[in-house]
Amino acid sequence: MNMTEPTQFRASDLRGTLRQNVGMSRYTSWRAGGYAERVYQPADRDDLLKFLNTLPAQEPLFAVGLGSNLLVRDGGLRGTVLLLHAALDEMHIQADGTLYVEAGVPGAKIARYAAMHNLRGAEFFAGIPGTLGGMLAMNAGCYGSETWDVVSSVQTVNRAGQMCVRHPDEYAIDYRSVILKEQQTLSPCGTSPKTKVVVVLPDPHLEEFFVSANLQLASGDGAVARQEIKALLSKRIASQPLQLPNAGSVFRNPVGDYAARLIEQSGLKGRQIGGARVSEKHANFIVNVGRASAADIENLINEVQATVQKKTGVLLHPEVRIVGVAGEGK
Ligand SMILES: Cc1cc2nc3c(=O)[nH]c(=O)nc-3n(C[C@H](O)[C@H](O)[C@H](O)COP(=O)(O)OP(=O)(O)OC[C@H]3O[C@@H](n4cnc5c(N)ncnc54)[C@H](O)[C@@H]3O)c2cc1C
Repeated sequence: MNMTEPTQFRASDLRGTLRQNVGMSRYTSWRAGGYAERVYQPADRDDLLKFLNTLPAQEPLFAVGLGSNLLVRDGGLRGTVLLLHAALDEMHIQADGTLYVEAGVPGAKIARYAAMHNLRGAEFFAGIPGTLGGMLAMNAGCYGSETWDVVSSVQTVNRAGQMCVRHPDEYAIDYRSVILKEQQTLSPCGTSPKTKVVVVLPDPHLEEFFVSANLQLASGDGAVARQEIKALLSKRIASQPLQLPNAGSVFRNPVGDYAARLIEQSGLKGRQIGGARVSEKHANFIVNVGRASAADIENLINEVQATVQKKTGVLLHPEVRIVGVAGEGK
């Protein structure tokens, strides 16, 4: 195993990289935030499974893809971050025609690969700057399509390193939300789905991460898919502040309305706290205009939420995931 500092894990034959005290601003698209106690970047899927086997039972664990929907507070993250981008990067078409994609593959690559193989329905992934794992966790989507629309099954791994195949009906899937249904009514891997197993929650060994998915896409014309990808990317360049670090839409759209419209109507475009500013180009984006701390960003999120509620009566809910402990950065 490649290590920059000594570690507490039994890990003689691991092939990934384990580092201590790693600044998460490098691994989040906001380019802000605190340190992770430990970061493990597995060499591949088997190495990830082995690493999970070495983990002390109570070690907090957190999966990160491309960090494009993530704010790590300045006080940092306890435990181990699993960096899955570039680690789980296999993708191929299977005998049954489904597209097998590992969790670390970026959306743009999935869209291009599908088009190259004359498959349609993956074009929307092109503009989402996250990994498949993050998109499965968020049910990411745009322009009328969502990640789980094209999923036929997923492979997950729990923190003990056990793999499991699951199907969409085992999850409560909603707008930007995916929750494994109550464990009580689910089968652990390898048992019949009809066997109801009573499990006392929360059991940290049941925590699961996405390792891969089989995507069911329609056959079609790859050239048309490429045209659609191009059009979709132009639309984004025209409407999003992509020159500055950001995490996409900060708030979910409320039913029947747009968060951006409500934020703009509340007079918040251009509002700035420290290095964090509500974008002039797209009001639901907060951009890092230079050296923003995670606290600047979170304080601005809270202010936008409170102001919009006061002025319009609508309570916006953050889409971005905010994790870690508050406090001073290093
Ligand atoms: C410019 C820009 C545009 C964007 N446009 C869109 C858009 O159009 N539509 C949209 O939905 N989102 C959009 N986003 C947000 C973001 O790209 C998506 O939410 C994406 O799915 C996050 O993927 P990620 O790999 O970066 O996840 P991360 O930010 O790394 O993680 C997000 C969450 O997913 C979890 N996670 C990550 N990997 C796994 C895994 N393997 N198993 C289990 N959990 C995991 C993390 O623990 C975390 O809770 C945009 C972001 C940016 C910066």
